[in-house]
Amino acid sequence: MDNIFGGLEKFGLNMEDMGDLFSEEKPEEKEKKEETAAAEAPKTVDDMDEAELLFQRELTCTVCDHKFKALSVRSSKLRRLPPDKDLRPRYKGVDTLKYDVYSCPYCGYTGMTRYFDHLSPLQIRLIRDGVCSKFNSSLLDVPETYDYDVALERYKLSLYNTVVKKGTISEKAYTCLKMSWLCRGKIEELLAKGASKDSETIKRCEKEELTYYAQAFEGLIKAVASESFPICGMDQNTMYILIAQMAIKLEKYDVASKLVSRILVSKTAPRAIKDRALDLKQEIITILRGTAQ
Ligand SMILES: [Zn+2]
Repeated sequence: MDNIFGGLEKFGLNMEDMGDLFSEEKPEEKEKKEETAAAEAPKTVDDMDEAELLFQRELTCTVCDHKFKALSVRSSKLRRLPPDKDLRPRYKGVDTLKYDVYSCPYCGYTGMTRYFDHLSPLQIRLIRDGVCSKFNSSLLDVPETYDYDVALERYKLSLYNTVVKKGTISEKAYTCLKMSWLCRGKIEELLAKGASKDSETIKRCEKEELTYYAQAFEGLIKAVASESFPICGMDQNTMYILIAQMAIKLEKYDVASKLVSRILVSKTAPRAIKDRALDLKQEIITILRGTAQ
């Protein structure tokens, strides 16, 4: 756990009395409301830099009522690129995942954008006791962009808050998955800037990526067994594809095979998902043949 939450000490927070990440029971709520970004005429400019794709969104903290600003993505200006195999979203010029967390600089309440406004009175009390009472206020100034380290720190705060408010297993797992994807984005950025693949920094990032990935995997497996779909905004078949793909990366081929089979015999899975499952099946067979030789 120290590994996952390392760096939060400067905010006055620590994980000593928190126990296992996925052991908490979830009390309630799984609504999601994607806020639409401010409407702007779409530009056809191809080479906008990251800052131009962002704006400062004004928010009101659900816990302390202070108004604060956070960087948010202008979705009307985004250009989607093909996602990674495990559904990690990719866009031209910006890694939108970096901007998927809101954090109140006054009281420390932090959450993924889709969950930020949805707190029960009980959860507000839990956050006040478990976060706000200890939190050293952070910087009020909003930078031009969030770099990966800042983004990861915001996600750690978000995960911490989710544990404190007894959020769902899927919310915690999804946070871990996005943190893992952020590490991947950071690695890509470092390599693009000329870092060597064998450098200590890259190796450290890869280890971190895998740590969050394994946590996310464990959490998603538990979430599909205990929560009802949609989970994290995904229907059952999409979630099975995601977990199967993650299982392959984590070399848990039995889990991957089982999920792929479930999709292939499903009467409701659409053609595109079945095709995807067939590709995965082939991938697993190829890998297992390779390791058997
Ligand atoms: Zn606040």
